[in-house]
Amino acid sequence: MDHNSPSNKLGLWTGLALWKKILIGMVLGVAVGALLGKDAALLKPIGTLFINAIKMLIVPLVFCSLVVGITSMKDTRKMGRIGGKAIVLYLLTTAVAIAIGLGLSAVIQPGAGLNMTASQSSVAKDAPALVQTLLAMIPQNPIKALAAGNILQIIVFAIGLGVSLVLIGEEKAAPAVKVFQSLAEAMYKLTEIVMAFAPYGIFGLMAWVAGTYGLDVLLPLIKVVGAVYLGALIHVVVFYSGVLTFLGRLNPRRYLKAITNPAAVAFTTSSSSGTLPATIKASREEMGVSEGVSGFVLPLGATINMDGTALYQGVCALFIAQAFGIDLSMADYMTIILTATLASIGTAGVPGAGLIMLSLVLSTVGLPIEGLAIVAGIDRILDMARTTINICGDMMVAVVIAKSEKELDQAVYDAD
Ligand code: ASP
Repeated sequence: MDHNSPSNKLGLWTGLALWKKILIGMVLGVAVGALLGKDAALLKPIGTLFINAIKMLIVPLVFCSLVVGITSMKDTRKMGRIGGKAIVLYLLTTAVAIAIGLGLSAVIQPGAGLNMTASQSSVAKDAPALVQTLLAMIPQNPIKALAAGNILQIIVFAIGLGVSLVLIGEEKAAPAVKVFQSLAEAMYKLTEIVMAFAPYGIFGLMAWVAGTYGLDVLLPLIKVVGAVYLGALIHVVVFYSGVLTFLGRLNPRRYLKAITNPAAVAFTTSSSSGTLPATIKASREEMGVSEGVSGFVLPLGATINMDGTALYQGVCALFIAQAFGIDLSMADYMTIILTATLASIGTAGVPGAGLIMLSLVLSTVGLPIEGLAIVAGIDRILDMARTTINICGDMMVAVVIAKSEKELDQAVYDAD
């Protein structure tokens, strides 16, 4: 594809990192939208194309990456116990992260006064009761759930299938696991291809947003960034330190020092998977976590534990509800916590994955998917913070489990 481009400018554009292109797309979109006013709605179809492509990814991406994530767990007793502890801690800390995100968004109110209106796609606001939501999580017909895009049901079925594949043993499971692995790979590739279109899609969406609603939309975005970064800080410094102190009986000071290097890698790469070598190294060398625990818990965490992503989903879901003037009930809040916790399991540790998962949370709660357009433009800035929290959470869980399994070299942890 390396043809000689007719102009240098085009070459410059293609060589640019995706997030920079997205940022340019957003800024240009805002400018064009402000210039064209209501006529900017003409550009909306470019954005709709992008949103549709994202929606296309969700079902197969979540399904395949979940099955693959679960089947990658080994089946020995100790692994089972460590895996169980890890999953419980991962889920609990993730739920707390969303609650912090929701709380901050409720206090800061980034979307208040935006008065946006959802178009056709706004979903009925008859939220079902929590019990019904829980019961409805089990699909009576998984194929129907896949076809209808019922993400909660898909997640439950994928977990069931993944666990069963582990239970029937490696030999019998191998063919199916291989199929899912290869499908998951292909879905990651397709995600990459769709994301390459993001700058144009976001340009169209931002032009439409700015043209229709004016520049007032932008100020709240600063508040969204503030809420996510503040939440990230609280989650690590207050919550993780608390868990380390009370559950792990460990001094959090050492942990806070050990996370600095991996955190820098996560912040700049926006990829939990890409940061994995750094998290494993720091956990072993600076905190004294055994090879067994770090080698198992950290890769698992990089795949399924996304506290930062969950926190961001909490902030953004509420921001979008506020922006569109939609009141959320207590059941809605619980659904957000539940969906985002489960969705975070299916989030791949690559840049931008959380944005796709946000669309899933929005559609489950019945919030307008157009809200995605507003946060998409600043996604990279948010991704940097959430990825950092994602890997800090993995390291916290690894050291707590190592301590409880007597797999922690206390001398290393206490050394100064
Ligand atoms: N980039 C994040 C990670 O790798 C996932 C996300 O987009 O939220 O952990």
